Amino acid sequence: MATVKKSAKKAAKKAPAAKGTKYVYTWGNGKADGNGSMKALLGGKGANLAEMTRIGLPVPPGFTITTEVCTYFYANKKTYPSSLQAQMEAGVKNMEKIMGCKFGDAKGLPLLVAVRSGARDSMPGMMDTILNLGLNDETVKSLAAVTKNERFAWDCYRRFVQMYGDVVLGVQKTEGEDHEPFEVVIEEFKHEKYHKDIIDSDLTADDQKELVKRFKALVKDRTGKGFPSDPWEQLRGAAGAVFSSWMNDRAIVYRRKYNIPAEWGTAVNVQAMVYGNTGDTSGSGVAFTRNPANGVNEFYGEFLVNAQGEDVVAGVRTPDPVALMKKAMPKPFAELMKVRQILEKHFKDVQDVEFTVQEGKLFMLQTRNGKRTAAAALKFSMDMVKEGLIDWKTAVLRNPADQLDQLLAPIFDVTEAKNAKELAKGLPAGPGAASGKIYLNADRAAAAAERGERVLLVRNETSPEDLRGMIAAEGILTAKGGVSSHAALVARQMGKVCICGASAIDIDYDKKTVKVAGETFKEGDYLSIDGTSGTVYGGELKTAPSEIITGIVDGDKASKKTEKFKSFLKLMEWCEQATRMAVRTNADTPEQTRIALAFGATGIGLTRTEHMFFEGDRIDAMREMILATSLPARKKALAKLLPYQREDFTGIFKALKGLPATIRLLDPPLHEFLPHSKEQQLDLSKKIGVPVETIIQRVHDLHEFNPMLGHRGCRLGIAYPEITEMQARAIFEAAADVAKKKIAVKPEVMIPLVGFSKEFDLQAEIVHAVAKEVMAEKKVTFEYQVGTMIEVPRGALTADEIAKGAEFFSFGTNDLTQTALGISRDDMGAFLMPYIESEVFSKNPFATLDATGVGQLMETAVTKGRSTRPNIKLGICGEHGGDPDSVKFCHKLGLNYVSCSPYRVPVARLAAAQAAIEEGKGAAPAKKAAKKAAKKAPAKKAAAKKVAKKAAKKAAKKK
Ligand code: ADP
Ligand code: MG
Ligand code: MG
Repeated sequence: MATVKKSAKKAAKKAPAAKGTKYVYTWGNGKADGNGSMKALLGGKGANLAEMTRIGLPVPPGFTITTEVCTYFYANKKTYPSSLQAQMEAGVKNMEKIMGCKFGDAKGLPLLVAVRSGARDSMPGMMDTILNLGLNDETVKSLAAVTKNERFAWDCYRRFVQMYGDVVLGVQKTEGEDHEPFEVVIEEFKHEKYHKDIIDSDLTADDQKELVKRFKALVKDRTGKGFPSDPWEQLRGAAGAVFSSWMNDRAIVYRRKYNIPAEWGTAVNVQAMVYGNTGDTSGSGVAFTRNPANGVNEFYGEFLVNAQGEDVVAGVRTPDPVALMKKAMPKPFAELMKVRQILEKHFKDVQDVEFTVQEGKLFMLQTRNGKRTAAAALKFSMDMVKEGLIDWKTAVLRNPADQLDQLLAPIFDVTEAKNAKELAKGLPAGPGAASGKIYLNADRAAAAAERGERVLLVRNETSPEDLRGMIAAEGILTAKGGVSSHAALVARQMGKVCICGASAIDIDYDKKTVKVAGETFKEGDYLSIDGTSGTVYGGELKTAPSEIITGIVDGDKASKKTEKFKSFLKLMEWCEQATRMAVRTNADTPEQTRIALAFGATGIGLTRTEHMFFEGDRIDAMREMILATSLPARKKALAKLLPYQREDFTGIFKALKGLPATIRLLDPPLHEFLPHSKEQQLDLSKKIGVPVETIIQRVHDLHEFNPMLGHRGCRLGIAYPEITEMQARAIFEAAADVAKKKIAVKPEVMIPLVGFSKEFDLQAEIVHAVAKEVMAEKKVTFEYQVGTMIEVPRGALTADEIAKGAEFFSFGTNDLTQTALGISRDDMGAFLMPYIESEVFSKNPFATLDATGVGQLMETAVTKGRSTRPNIKLGICGEHGGDPDSVKFCHKLGLNYVSCSPYRVPVARLAAAQAAIEEGKGAAPAKKAAKKAAKKAPAKKAAAKKVAKKAAKKAAKKK
């Protein structure tokens, strides 16, 4: 509220005397005060009604009361500017003139109006519309007399009393009531008179009269007041209700969800009524100019004969597909088809329209850009380029980056999902559909997959030990954890379907059962999960993989011939043309690397070497190394690991064919590699011949109170330089072997968790020494770099010192966010929702970069790093590298690349291209970016300007 007031006062200052201010914008008869670009002042609906009028479409006349009046209303104890009444009167006069009738006329045809809300962004169903305003006991009679249609007149009146009673007078369902009070009255009446449920349009004039009487009695009973009969009192009341509704709970919740500022306010549209309820030559409909589900270029919508407004969407009667209108009303339908073309030509996008037919004549009541699925967005954008409606850059912008993964996900057979039983809901963590036999442990899941079963891994939560099972499974379902839990992270990296935190499922590991919604599922029973919506279904459902995946990953020929696949490739091609920033991938295996490259990655931004230690026998050698009590013993164990690592890196370098690979040295605390259960410890003891007591003791020694801030990252390499030495050797020997085969290699060795330049120097010294040794031994030279991850605040703040030795920085924004915010990602579940609800965060900072805080640290590191080493290579390898908003922020910072999991590569490419196109569209991109960055980080204005300028220069050079 405070902010609303403030901005209202500001607005009042800008236009001091309320007198001269224009608060009412009229339209009608081909002329309009406003136009489509004035959405901030007139709201989306009002601006487009004006625009449609201007381009000659049949729109009933009306006027918009501006959003400034809404702001004034809240800043001035719910009162209005003094000049508003006169301006509204002029607006009504204009309507009267065009329609040839008078507001409140009890002798001739009365002008009736619709009062409609309309914010800048459409907020569907958030605020209610009032139709047929201006009716009372007198005007209803003149309406009936002039139209010679008594049933129609009383139907309008009955609807009006109901809507006004509900929206303005607040006669609504109270706690304990199951149904809307007006609906209860209607039901009671129908049963009393007809002894059954008849449809509203079958009610007679006398029935409607009786209902009006009963409705008024209900209003009196609930509010203690009579129903207002003065049309002007009705109009002021309705406008006030629309403004008041801006602050109702529904609207507030909606704004919070979609990040709409309260300051925007809503406009009120007052429009002459046209009537879809006069009989069988009239009706109302809603439609899209193209199919918003699959993108097909066909008119798509619904229509109801003899109906008004909300009847179509309210579900009281089932509407017909709009195609049937062609038969029932050929003339208005043909006109509608013309309007469809005009609208698309004019707005250059698919429109979502509302219309009414009154006695064979078509009227347009609303148009806006239609919401669409990812598949439809792709097809729209491709088709419209072909049709010459938009250019390719606009087409790139028309595909929402945060929806692109919908295109890659397998899908459930539509009819199957409809008939399936919904058991529980969780967080949609990995989009797509998966169906399989459930297993509650990784080993049994992997064994079942080996037997050829399709498997769902179901766990309370997952850990690195479950990796085998996760790889084997079609999908992963957890009862606990959020969208940044281990399960979600791995699912994204592997492109697996995943639902996290489905708290309604009750897992019993001992009995091997899952209880949910009163049913018990045993291991081997089927469940199905929709990771796009977060829904868990019982039983087996049919799925199909996306053609984009089968085409790109498996090279499937049939898939490559599909339109969806070709469109996707085209989109990626355009992204390539537009982008400045490169996209790399986070990959640990040659297979992941191959997939990422197929998606267009231009290198590896992060290889996590520790993931390699969990496979097969390697974990035993790793554990032996950790348990070693002397340097020679440790070196002996390390020597066993060396060939494994070398082999992995060789595979990755070969897959990369000369593209760069950033390889991070060992990062996690050592205790993560040791077994924690007694059983496993005994097993290990037998296997490697170390007494179990020693193992228990070592686990105990390695225990940390705060592992996130403990002995990890470069702190390991400094305590045990021999680990760094082994890893560097594995990397460089692999590089040498590959280089000898005349395949280019570009290893980039990355030291993790550096906060002090000395830490970097100590580790880099070892790496450089090993490189020299290996080149001498193998008699071959190759390029390599040594750099660091910037993932603790001190590292960012002292980036100028670190950059003396470091040849590249990669922002590890997972840890940088944890350490900058002082919040543990894994323990945030308990307060994430309250934090989002009370608007401490607008979004989960581990999913979308906290640009204001963490972003400032990054900016500092960028500026300081470049001040020491102007051509330092800058990238990001945290989870944020695959999040569209974060990718766009990285573009503004002027990073060289973002790195993300293989299946996120297309998303990142799209976001990076969009950032470049959006920047290019501004008149002075450098200044604009600088301004924006400066706003986000006021203390760093100068730095931001520099960054933006450099980025702009670079972009200019590229062009
Ligand atoms: P919403 O924003 O919820 O769609 P609208 O203001 O668009 O609300 O109104 C809902 C419906 O009311 C419209 O789709 C239309 O059928 C009907 N309606 C609105 N204005 C008029 C009008 N001037 N004449 C006839 N019907 C109208
Ligand atoms: Mg509407
Ligand atoms: Mg880290």
